[in-house]
Amino acid sequence: MTVESKPTPPKPEDAFERAVARLDQAANHVELHTEVIERLKFAKSILTVSVPVRMDDGSLRMFEGHRVRHNDLRGPGKGGLRYHPEVTLDEVKTLAFWMTCKCAVMDLPFGGAKGGVAVDPKSLSTRELERLSREFVARIADFIGPETDIPAPDVYTNARIMGWMMDEYSTVVRRRTPGVITGKPLSLGGSRGRDTATGFGGYICLKEWEQAEGWTPQDTTVAVQGFGNAGQAIARLLHDDGYRVIAVSDSKGGIHQPEGFDVDSLIRTKNETRELKAVYCQGSLCEAVDADTLDNEEILKLDVDILVPAALSNVISEANATDIKAGVILELANGPIDDGADAILAKKGIPVIPDILANAGGVTVSYFEWVQNRSGDYWSEDEVTKRLEKRMRTQFQAVRDLAAEHEVPLRTAAYILALKRIGDAVEAMGTSRYFNSGT
Ligand code: NAD
Repeated sequence: MTVESKPTPPKPEDAFERAVARLDQAANHVELHTEVIERLKFAKSILTVSVPVRMDDGSLRMFEGHRVRHNDLRGPGKGGLRYHPEVTLDEVKTLAFWMTCKCAVMDLPFGGAKGGVAVDPKSLSTRELERLSREFVARIADFIGPETDIPAPDVYTNARIMGWMMDEYSTVVRRRTPGVITGKPLSLGGSRGRDTATGFGGYICLKEWEQAEGWTPQDTTVAVQGFGNAGQAIARLLHDDGYRVIAVSDSKGGIHQPEGFDVDSLIRTKNETRELKAVYCQGSLCEAVDADTLDNEEILKLDVDILVPAALSNVISEANATDIKAGVILELANGPIDDGADAILAKKGIPVIPDILANAGGVTVSYFEWVQNRSGDYWSEDEVTKRLEKRMRTQFQAVRDLAAEHEVPLRTAAYILALKRIGDAVEAMGTSRYFNSGT
């Protein structure tokens, strides 16, 4: 009898340590005071709150929420708020750390933060969701603010929720404060272009990549795992450019069609019915879309030119990395590839455009929104798009040049860039080198 040995899954509570450990690889390539890494190995401040919610049936339910400010040397903390049943403090700390690095890669005047509530939002009514959102923000109100820490949408939170939260915060501080949160509805001080910014940023990375690869869009195939805000936006942009989006999936599973989908109609169906499954299993739509079904594991293993994980973390691990066949992976989700898988993909020669660059379009337009809220001067969609494209191209090229200079993967290069910028801020405050000189 043979005993099958399975790789031990990483302990969830280790995620922050494992994420921070990635800095060590990059640190070998930068002249950096040891204090920089020392500082980044700790979150600046952490708040955990309980959130009581009166349910529609009169009962009380308690939820747990967190807000973590990882580092704010370069500016106020910035980062999304996530609603998901598996939210843990360790995950929120990890996501906050990535935000510190992402804001530095994009050269935004922000540090990193993140928050989340452990809840299955799909199990709540709209009124319960509003009560939860308002109560959560009231309980973290002393911790956030336009000068200290600015939340935004993330998984299963959206513009409407950001609007409720801004309204509640304004009530708590007795002052209309649109700059406390970004990703708001346009009518409540949101920015044009915020809803598609993450997808657009990833798309610009691929356009830069396309120049080097010499792809022709109609011969280039794409699979997108996760068909929410980020996944839909990039699928639509690539489809409009002529790329063949041949597979997409959501939490309930995926669909595959080798000729490529009409992405606009997929988006319509998904948003009307709230699930992709409806595209192939509901009456006339079944006939309208000729597609095979596949699960969320299979979509990752398709032989495509571009694979876009746009859902959750750690979906590509040591357990499945050897089966990945994509030509390039664009990490639109945060942390979809764990560090063990990273090494396997590097050995297989599959390049990865890393999350802290690939999905930074969202935080960049969040920055634009914050600037507009503070100045009262609101920009056209065209203005936002131009500014975003310029910043994405500039920082993509900076990362690509560092990768070539140090002969390292793009991920390491992105961390090198982040460390240089955070390192400059640490040096400007003075390190032991400064304080010991002349004494
Ligand atoms: P969203 O809630 O709009 O969409 C998430 C999508 O993932 C949904 O379609 C959901 O059905 C799907 N999903 C959930 N579980 C899944 C599973 N197990 N397998 C496959 N699909 C699954 O969220 P979003 O804003 O699009 O965020 C997606 C990812 O992008 C997250 O990792 C988020 O942190 C990252 N991100 C988003 C933004 C942004 O501005 N929205 C910015 C940066 C990074």
